[in-house]
Amino acid sequence: MASGCDVFVTRSKAVVLGRRVVCDGHEDGYKLRIVTHAHSDHLYGLRESVRKCDLVVSTRETKDLLMALGKSEARCLVAVNGGDTLSYGEEKVKLIPVEHILGTAQVLVEREDGARCLYSSDFRFRSAPIIKCDVLVLDSTYGAPGNVRPKIEEVYDAFYAIVEDALGKGEPVHVFGFIGKVQEAMELLRKRSVDDPFVVSPRMYRISKIYEKYGFHLGEYYSSEGLVGRKVLENDLHVAFFSPNEKHRSNMNCVQIELTGWLFNVPYTKIGEKSYVVSFSGHSDFNQLIEYVDKCRPSYVVTDNARGGQAVKLAEEIEKRLGIPASPSPLDNHTLRL
Ligand SMILES: [Zn+2]
Repeated sequence: MASGCDVFVTRSKAVVLGRRVVCDGHEDGYKLRIVTHAHSDHLYGLRESVRKCDLVVSTRETKDLLMALGKSEARCLVAVNGGDTLSYGEEKVKLIPVEHILGTAQVLVEREDGARCLYSSDFRFRSAPIIKCDVLVLDSTYGAPGNVRPKIEEVYDAFYAIVEDALGKGEPVHVFGFIGKVQEAMELLRKRSVDDPFVVSPRMYRISKIYEKYGFHLGEYYSSEGLVGRKVLENDLHVAFFSPNEKHRSNMNCVQIELTGWLFNVPYTKIGEKSYVVSFSGHSDFNQLIEYVDKCRPSYVVTDNARGGQAVKLAEEIEKRLGIPASPSPLDNHTLRL
């Protein structure tokens, strides 16, 4: 491991990978900002970065999603292809596509002294590339040993079965999830031949259009605020999709399904007469995080302590199970010197 290699997460939630490179937060003095994906907890300080950095970079898909979300700063982003490598000063920065929401990229910085510093961002383990690195900054959302979910294929089956059962009984279904997860659920139902019309909130409508631009097949869908969408919601058998904070748009008499990563051990649970929670997550669970670290074999792991989750516990477990030194960041002194 090269000496003098500073990798940490700042209190402003910026992941510092290189001498000039940060991800997903702003920190003065770092002139290249990478946006790993369009979820709000990865957009901290974006306006400031656009004003102060030399370059703010994302994948094309992420830039399009941010534009669709109405983020005016997105116009200033430099869009690159997933897999592209940029040279910035003496450092090489590679964006590596990974399964999470459309456009998500992990970031590998190769420093002047040869040290390889990787930020995992949010990711699903099942298809994640295994990248050898010296220091790994790891998503810690599900970093406690109890945070274990069934295989995603099992979850897909459970979700489809609930939807199919409801539609078979003539009952509309309303689904709640974050952007990206909803479009994945929409495509899954289409692939399994659900051909009833979909209705989505205006925000989800704009996001869905971007997914279609990049090859997703979502079938027939309407905005819940449009004339046709409103009529379908009132009169027809349908499946509607909203964000978790858009529940007010839903008719409480429908079968309701919440998609969340915070249900463990079982693919779904029934919480009311017509209410279900499905263990649908775009993140790796605890066991997968440990397996991922084991395969990447870094010399040091920094667990991201700026985005909630279980960074302290995860660092302990990595040391205990794999013998790889690890610590959460930010800590009180907030700079980790390796
Ligand atoms: Zn995310």
